[in-house]
Amino acid sequence: MTAYDYDLFVIGGGSGGVRSARVASSLGKRVAIAEEYRYGGTCVIRGCVPKKLFVYASQFPEHFEDAVGFGWTVGERSFDWKKLVAAKDQEITRLEGLYRKGLENAKADIYDSRAELVDAHTVKLVKTGQTFTAERIVIAVGGTPNEHKALKGHELTISSNEAFDLETLPRSILIAGGGYIAVEFANIFHGLGVETTLIYRGKEILSRFDLDMRRGLHEAMEAKGIRIICSDVIEEVSKAPDGGLVARTLNNGTLSVDTVMLALGRDPNTKGLGLEAAGVALDKRGAIVVDEYSRTNVPSIFALGDVTDRVQLTPVAIHEAMCFIETEFKNNPTKPDHDLIATAVFSQPEIGTVGLSEEEAASRYQELEVYRAQFRPMKATLSGRAEKTIMKLIVNAEDRKVVGVHILGHEAGEMAQLLGITLKAGCTKDDFDNTMAVHPTAAEELVTMYSPSYRIRNGERV
Ligand code: NDP
Repeated sequence: MTAYDYDLFVIGGGSGGVRSARVASSLGKRVAIAEEYRYGGTCVIRGCVPKKLFVYASQFPEHFEDAVGFGWTVGERSFDWKKLVAAKDQEITRLEGLYRKGLENAKADIYDSRAELVDAHTVKLVKTGQTFTAERIVIAVGGTPNEHKALKGHELTISSNEAFDLETLPRSILIAGGGYIAVEFANIFHGLGVETTLIYRGKEILSRFDLDMRRGLHEAMEAKGIRIICSDVIEEVSKAPDGGLVARTLNNGTLSVDTVMLALGRDPNTKGLGLEAAGVALDKRGAIVVDEYSRTNVPSIFALGDVTDRVQLTPVAIHEAMCFIETEFKNNPTKPDHDLIATAVFSQPEIGTVGLSEEEAASRYQELEVYRAQFRPMKATLSGRAEKTIMKLIVNAEDRKVVGVHILGHEAGEMAQLLGITLKAGCTKDDFDNTMAVHPTAAEELVTMYSPSYRIRNGERV
């Protein structure tokens, strides 16, 4: 028996926190977890899960239109925002319950309170003032939307946190940012009938993705009627006499909208957590600095997930939690593997991607073979919708390894998951060629692109 109250105290009930607490507890460790808001964290409560539900909701107008081409007559339609929000709330409450149940079943002590560090082994619950000691402490408090306080009128804007629970659906929205959240919400709001403008400071949206995907999505979004303004930023947001908002931008003058949403990245949630008291080191962005095993500079304190600003994705936080458990409680030192993470942007159409973009691969390898297909998806033939799917394989010519796959089109996220396995397994283009196609699918294109569309040699397209 140690002198500590707990073997493990976890601060933060999101993906990484709940996973580490639940598994440690099920291993027989004495575990406590504290959460100030709702169990499930950003992903479940105001991130991935409600976002995906809203994506589905926003796709129906296109489905209704497409139905006509297949012989259907669709009657009058109407959309009830409050009903969607209520249905979403019901689902996330159910999921939150499952998270709690998992912790209860594993016999972890659950605290509904903000918790802060007192020292390297002590945690204080803000609600009650109680303190507990623990041999190990995990900080998994996630991130929070960048408020962009330098922007005049930032207090009039909303973030993704509020977007899920707006009282009414705005008639028009201006979304700032060109990353995952800006792009996904621009498509959601547009699909729900909101006049949508996206404003991004760079030359092309989704700066960290393959340029083909970025351009393809940009075109598709504009073709739907989403206005995209690049190379511009909002300089000021103010109230309009009619109750709406006016956004003044650097280059495009003023835009009058009901709502302005900022999606300018997420900051680690480390303020006021007592990290200074415990001596935990932070980086310039306020993220907790960790080593390869998610250890902070204080030997008893660990950090997982978005608060460490490694890769801000739910499955990564969960993976880091599992590695922490292996290392600390199973005597099996395991480093999180952040290489070849498949990811999806739930835009409409989706982007699914794993590995290097063409630009990154060109800077890393001497010669690349690029296989590229662009086609109209089968569903669009009868619906008459003008849309295209783009698929791209990037192959290192030297060893034939597929180093990047990028897809823009329906179910690209689902495909990315499976492609993640093939790239992780080190598959070559020959493995793709040797694989029988599944017909008729869009994905069969991935195994039937026999000759390169072009090559890149020493960074130059040849
Ligand atoms: P991202 O990092 O994806 O994008 C932030 C965007 O804001 C970038 O376009 C960036 O521009 C821009 N930006 C940042 N600061 C400023 C500024 N001061 N002025 C103008 N523009 C600015 O963050 P998100 O907020 O979209 O999402 C946060 C994280 O959540 C993501 O990193 C992602 O990991 C995760 N997420 C994942 C999803 C998924 O898996 N489908 C969905 C939603 C979120 P620039 O590109 O020029 O730097």
